[in-house]
Amino acid sequence: AHLDRIADVDGDIHAFLQVDAEGALAAAKAVDDARAAGEQLGALAGVPIAVKDILATKGLETTAGSKILEGWIPPYDATVVSKLRAAGMPILGKTNMDEFAMGSSTEHSAYGPTRNPWDPERIPGGSGGGSAAAVAAFEAPLAIGTDTGGSIRQPASVTGTVGTKPTYGGVSRYGIIALASSLDQAGPCTRSVLDAALLHEVIGGHDVMDSTSIDAPVPPVVEAARRGDVSGMKIGVIKGISGEGFQPGVKQLFDESVQLLVDRGASVVEVECPSFEKGLAAYYLIMPSEASSNLARYDAMRYGLRVGPEGVDSPSAEQVMAATREAGFGDEVKRRVILGTYALSAGYYDAYYGQAQKVRTLIARDFAAAYEKVDVLVTPTAPTTAFKLGEKLDDPMAMYLNDVATIPANLAGVPGMSIPNGLAAEDGLPSGFQILAPATKDERLYEVAAALE
Ligand code: GLN
Repeated sequence: AHLDRIADVDGDIHAFLQVDAEGALAAAKAVDDARAAGEQLGALAGVPIAVKDILATKGLETTAGSKILEGWIPPYDATVVSKLRAAGMPILGKTNMDEFAMGSSTEHSAYGPTRNPWDPERIPGGSGGGSAAAVAAFEAPLAIGTDTGGSIRQPASVTGTVGTKPTYGGVSRYGIIALASSLDQAGPCTRSVLDAALLHEVIGGHDVMDSTSIDAPVPPVVEAARRGDVSGMKIGVIKGISGEGFQPGVKQLFDESVQLLVDRGASVVEVECPSFEKGLAAYYLIMPSEASSNLARYDAMRYGLRVGPEGVDSPSAEQVMAATREAGFGDEVKRRVILGTYALSAGYYDAYYGQAQKVRTLIARDFAAAYEKVDVLVTPTAPTTAFKLGEKLDDPMAMYLNDVATIPANLAGVPGMSIPNGLAAEDGLPSGFQILAPATKDERLYEVAAALE
């Protein structure tokens, strides 16, 4: 049924870069056979899933939305993908994304943009717009995204879906194409809170292949999602990232949901996180710095594309590398590689990267101080509903500003979740409610989310 739905609507939406009908049907049949043989199967066995094209899938092309990886067929599966397969979840295909997960609109994909199922003239968010759109358009019941600075949560917000960024280290990064290694985290994109919890449970847990993976069991997210009991919980509303610059309709829906939590027995306090307003600036130094270093591996020798410089008879390795990177990377990737290389250069390291790391520490301290007073923090996920395709494409700063509420969680490594929060009065488009919890307390996200669902 999902393959039929993809065939019907994906020509317009373009959520998928690859559809693996054969592989998905074979996996579904294997689950049917196991069930017929009386095997005990998990809750999601046989439930199909779409996977963001940044996760390595054995035998299935993986491009991270970039021309430089076109045609690259990974020889192995990311740990998350192995876990999906082990849980009997057929993989429908790979979803579209901003090139190397840089962007908030999916317009930076080298393979053309994805459209928002609510309005094809609008963006589905980014970088994981393909995963969110696939779920919102009923092309897939579940999807995997990755979130370095909001790429699961902001697309969830603008497509009216659920998205979780687990605690850093809660889900293995092995086999996920690295963008900014200290920020990247994979997580669920779904239509309901319980679906997200069930998927979180499947993909989470310790992995010896990822040295930053937390050696502890997956937090009790499913129980929390079934319970949804906020009575006695303390909810912190972050001053500063709920007001100015936020669309009035988005803000109004946010206030209404906070009131709903009070009605359900929670108490609400306003908390100050004074360093959060510097988060955006720090992120857009740290993230390009790590990315410029990670992307150095695309050297024309190891993967995908190789372009010889024109008019040169026997080019040097350096010339081939330069020509390949010139042809293979898009503008946003080049912008960030240049920015990151500059910020890391000997003369500027302390002024830029060093300063940004200090801000990162201050943000972590703001979170720690806030969590002494409250159980969770809440904000609107994104300042606005989905903007129009092309609207912010020529203005990188305007695009970056969309991430103001999502990136503090990545900088501090704490878990965050976006749930649908109704349609904004001005434009009738979805908005999101963001919940943030202390590191390793991911279950609190689901407790609060389920209370609002
Ligand atoms: N908008 C963020 C950026 O462009 C999203 C990054 C991400 O989470 N992958 O960096």
